[in-house]
Amino acid sequence: MNFGTRLLHNGNEVDPFTGAASVPLYQASTYHQADIDNPGTFDYARSGNPTREALEQTIAELEGGTRGFAFASGMAAISTVFLLFSKGDHLVVSEDLYGGTFRVLTEVLPRLGIQATFVDTTDLDQVRAAIRSQTRALYIETPSNPTLKVTDLKGATELAKEQGLYTIVDNTFLTPCYQRPLEQGADIVIHSATKFIAGHSDVVSGLVAVGDASLADRLALLQNALGSVLGVQDCWLTMRGLKTLKTRMDTSSASADYIARELRRFPEIRRVYYTGLEDHPGHRIQSRQSEGHGAVLSFDLGDGQRVRQVLSRVRLPLVAVSLGAVESILSYPAKMSHAAMPPSERAKRGVTDGLLRLSVGLEDPDDLLEDLERAIRGRRISSVGTEWRASIV
Ligand SMILES: *Cc1c(COP(=O)(O)O)cnc(C)c1O
Repeated sequence: MNFGTRLLHNGNEVDPFTGAASVPLYQASTYHQADIDNPGTFDYARSGNPTREALEQTIAELEGGTRGFAFASGMAAISTVFLLFSKGDHLVVSEDLYGGTFRVLTEVLPRLGIQATFVDTTDLDQVRAAIRSQTRALYIETPSNPTLKVTDLKGATELAKEQGLYTIVDNTFLTPCYQRPLEQGADIVIHSATKFIAGHSDVVSGLVAVGDASLADRLALLQNALGSVLGVQDCWLTMRGLKTLKTRMDTSSASADYIARELRRFPEIRRVYYTGLEDHPGHRIQSRQSEGHGAVLSFDLGDGQRVRQVLSRVRLPLVAVSLGAVESILSYPAKMSHAAMPPSERAKRGVTDGLLRLSVGLEDPDDLLEDLERAIRGRRISSVGTEWRASIV
């Protein structure tokens, strides 16, 4: 069955006990044990819950894994995965990294004796050079944020296997709809399901999928031991969002492609980053290893002054952190996700004061483009919408 069908028919869509068309919220912390010598499947909800289990089995199935895990947030998922490692272990990590992941790797894990080296994983020679005898894993984000650098997943997982390392991939930007790292040799896939998977800016949620049974057992132990589980209400919301993933991804990605091409014509815009553009450095690899280019693009307006003008004038996108929602979200990396990074470091990565990131939602792409054009060109807007937006900021 194809992906769009499997979103709706994957064996976890109907409540096995009642036949209900949506898995119910099993809002219970514990379970009656009718026979103390033969305990049931569930005994305590931190260890297991039917609502959470349906979501966990669904993500495993969609990523082509054997077991899935739902966590209280993307960061809870990432942190729990990192605790597979021990004192003395070393990780090689994509330098273009989600800020929260960078924080855990630089401010928390070193206290536990776990070290990381950050390299440009689009260059496998750099990855190879960073591997030490204590290295245990390669951690990749592709495409990266916000300039959408593409790492060759097959090349990276082959190198990792040859060196006896796990490959861990943060698949938040593309989701299993377009990219399935386990099928390309990765060992662990992680999601901030807060973004495209849940997709409605209404839940914070994290997911992990793995193929190997012993790795799954170790993660299950950590999830239960640390208690970093997703609550049932949020499991239900994540599953509700997931059902429309393909439709949302396809529509938003088509709009992102259209908007990226149109924005390139604007003389005010110095550069547009979108992997669907044929001259993006990662275009060829991305086209080979994934089935789509996703709904996130970035563009450089040249300076911070112009960015401020645009952010104060746009009416349609939310001006916010986060991405992957039904509504478009415009983010300013220099002041949001990358604020903690020194300007020189930011500049090296293309995260200039003029860079904006757009996560394209489900609005009509012509309306989005017109809104952006008006904001960039500085034409006056005569709408109550702006005043209302201004009044709530
Ligand atoms: C948002 C995000 C995270 C963190 O997820 P939360 O759900 O906010 O904890 C991790 N990785 C990427 C790529 C993200 O965009």
